[in-house]
Amino acid sequence: MSALASPVPVPQEVAVHEGPALLAGLTDGPSLAAHRGRYGALPEVGLAALRELIRASGLRGRGGAAFPFVRKLDTAAGSTASRAPGRRGGREAVVVVNLSEGEPGSAKDSALALTRPHLVLDGAVATACALRAREVHVVVAGDRPAVRESVVRALDERDDAVPIRQHATEPRFVGGQARAVVELLAGRPNLPVTSWAPEAVAGLAGRPTLLSNAETWAHVGLLVLRGGAAYRHHGTDREPGTTLLTLTRPGFVPHVHEVGYGTRLRDLLPPGVHGHPALVGGFHGSWATWPTLRAARVSVPGMSALGAPLGAGVLLAPGGSCPLTLTSRVVDYLAGQSAGRCGPCHNGLPALASVVRELVHGDADGGVSGAAGRAGRLAALVTGRGACAHPDGTARLVRSVLAVFPDEVAEHAAGRCAVEPVGSAAEDAGEVAS
Ligand code: SF4
Repeated sequence: MSALASPVPVPQEVAVHEGPALLAGLTDGPSLAAHRGRYGALPEVGLAALRELIRASGLRGRGGAAFPFVRKLDTAAGSTASRAPGRRGGREAVVVVNLSEGEPGSAKDSALALTRPHLVLDGAVATACALRAREVHVVVAGDRPAVRESVVRALDERDDAVPIRQHATEPRFVGGQARAVVELLAGRPNLPVTSWAPEAVAGLAGRPTLLSNAETWAHVGLLVLRGGAAYRHHGTDREPGTTLLTLTRPGFVPHVHEVGYGTRLRDLLPPGVHGHPALVGGFHGSWATWPTLRAARVSVPGMSALGAPLGAGVLLAPGGSCPLTLTSRVVDYLAGQSAGRCGPCHNGLPALASVVRELVHGDADGGVSGAAGRAGRLAALVTGRGACAHPDGTARLVRSVLAVFPDEVAEHAAGRCAVEPVGSAAEDAGEVAS
């Protein structure tokens, strides 16, 4: 299947809002002088002290899986002590800042790179020094030039004990997947591959590779610079800290907010999307109705319990536009984004995209209700069978639209759509929020 354009273009501008922690003091600007003026010099922290800071904070990765970061650190640290087969001594760790944001609806890591690059880099450098790593890699999105320029400017300002190299991904949805990033660093095509061990055990050149997204590293940076009490000052007792959210609306500049866990989600949503559903978690996410959004609080377990996991914090809100039409365009796009190396992507996703198009437009063979059954069966068929989670995420989106919008599916089966096509309202009016 040839690659179709994303229904939400990769953002070249981001509206970044002042926040309580990572995004505090935005008017200072992104320079190293302003950063050091606010936070002081980066202290040296030993591995045991860094581990305790991270453990006590309860920091979880902000890339979507919400994996406890201390466990990743422990795995990498433990793997540096183990010997590579046939070699003497331990193995040096590698630290990777993943700023690639392959998800077009996400702009939170871009926001950090544009406004707080040294917070991100401090987190990675402090950890690299604690692990005695000899190199740090920063991987930016090849199709976000302003982000890349900001990172290059920030690196030019710094003089760290550990060398930092910058790389750019290919413009592809799966290019930011962890194994695809490791492949890029190894000089191979920037695509996911099957792996039998986590990157923290055996990543780049078989070495323990501590790879995380920019937001996670920024939290580590702030923990080292400000301590654990400042982190726990925000959020709730059970879920301390803040998180970044990207609010994306077709035809609008994305907005990035930082909020404490426990914040009411509806307080972040502009009036234009009130009363309407939103896609939570980005293109691999799940739809949530307005009653769900209105009741939700920003929380990893809380949103999962509502059937709309937060993932990497993307809220795609089409307002009054048709969620089925948007889903179909997203699945078309996702089907064209894999390398087509595995069966579920090569055969399954194009077939799934075709059936979802039938859901929206109807077909001569069984109509939309027949398409709904086939979409459900295909979604089940592709799940758990790829080398990476791309088919699973695409299937999750399709299952979600079937579960959340049975009435809309029936409307389409009858040849009706109660709402307008995606993006028409904002784009036709030339309206762009800032
Ligand atoms: S599942 Fe799809 S995206 Fe993932 S490695 Fe296989 S072909 Fe590529």
